[in-house]
Amino acid sequence: MSYDPDNIFARILRGEIPATRVYEDDDTLAFMDIMPRADGHCLVIPKTPCRNILDASPEQLAAVMRTVQKLARAVMAGLGAQGVTVQQFSEAAGGQEVFHLHFHVLPRFEGVKLRPPGQPGDMDEIAAHAERIRAAIVAG
Ligand code: 5GP
Repeated sequence: MSYDPDNIFARILRGEIPATRVYEDDDTLAFMDIMPRADGHCLVIPKTPCRNILDASPEQLAAVMRTVQKLARAVMAGLGAQGVTVQQFSEAAGGQEVFHLHFHVLPRFEGVKLRPPGQPGDMDEIAAHAERIRAAIVAG
């Protein structure tokens, strides 16, 4: 399986389509999922191409996981989450729909189940959650 440079996350990285960005460094970008399965659901991707965990380099994985941890801590502090679920799907049979490596960071609250996938979120709510996550990252 080869990498498609026109996948939707590659287009977000190039700035061709908008995304609600919450954090970036030299190697990674984090932005809000437009179909959030939990309040504050965000995605972390490497800035360099790879499809998923199967073709990622150790360096790409290390950089992405550093940012996943940063976002996990930020959703705890910024949104008052009580836990975090991290998900990664590889290839269609594994549940992957966008073929640029990404990790889902899902803030979790006691007794609140994940929503089903594929339901567009309210963009004002997503923006408000993003703002609280950004503030927590800045506060460190
Ligand atoms: P997966 O490939 O791991 O199954 O999931 C892809 C994720 O990307 C889904 O959670 C979906 O809601 C999200 N997604 C799909 N298209 C877009 C988009 O254009 N922008 C953003 N921010 N998220 C997207």
